[in-house]
Amino acid sequence: MLNKEFKRKDVERMRNLIKGKTGESAEVQVGYRAKKENHKEGDIWEEGGKKWTIKDGIKQTYTKLDRVKKEAILPLFCPNCGSLMKKRLDAKMYKIHQTCFDCVVEKEAKLKREGKYEEYERNMMINNAKDMVEDFETYLLEALNTSNTQYVSERGEVERWKGGIDKEKLTKEIKEAVIEFKEKIEKND
Ligand SMILES: [Zn+2]
Repeated sequence: MLNKEFKRKDVERMRNLIKGKTGESAEVQVGYRAKKENHKEGDIWEEGGKKWTIKDGIKQTYTKLDRVKKEAILPLFCPNCGSLMKKRLDAKMYKIHQTCFDCVVEKEAKLKREGKYEEYERNMMINNAKDMVEDFETYLLEALNTSNTQYVSERGEVERWKGGIDKEKLTKEIKEAVIEFKEKIEKND
């Protein structure tokens, strides 16, 4: 049974890797000037193909907020079997499967009986990897767009880039890398 607990940590690790790299190449790209745009708390606007908003003073993608919101709402009863969701594992399983823990156990046992479990597990892994890549993409694009020289990390710390960043070039690179990554995941490379 898969869970997504490792996701945050992995994103953080990738983030640090890329950040180190980006910091180096950013040093030679001085002279970029950020476009000044005035947005206030709660505004929603489009930029670089993504929807953005400002929440608690921090600029972030709207889709990400949306997803976090959806995942955070745990209904009182399992939408599949109608039983009360009270176990710690129910909350965890609901985030991934949108059912209670018992329903997941039952579903997986059935898949095993039908010989479809391996395919299911593979799909779960692919989706999980895709989610991770998407989270990372969102994070990078956010970091790039938050400010030219600094941004607030997921942990709320202000981090600084050395020199300016060529946002357009980096955005393009990130998007290309993500597409490539997803293709690799699909092919199971
Ligand atoms: Zn259930």
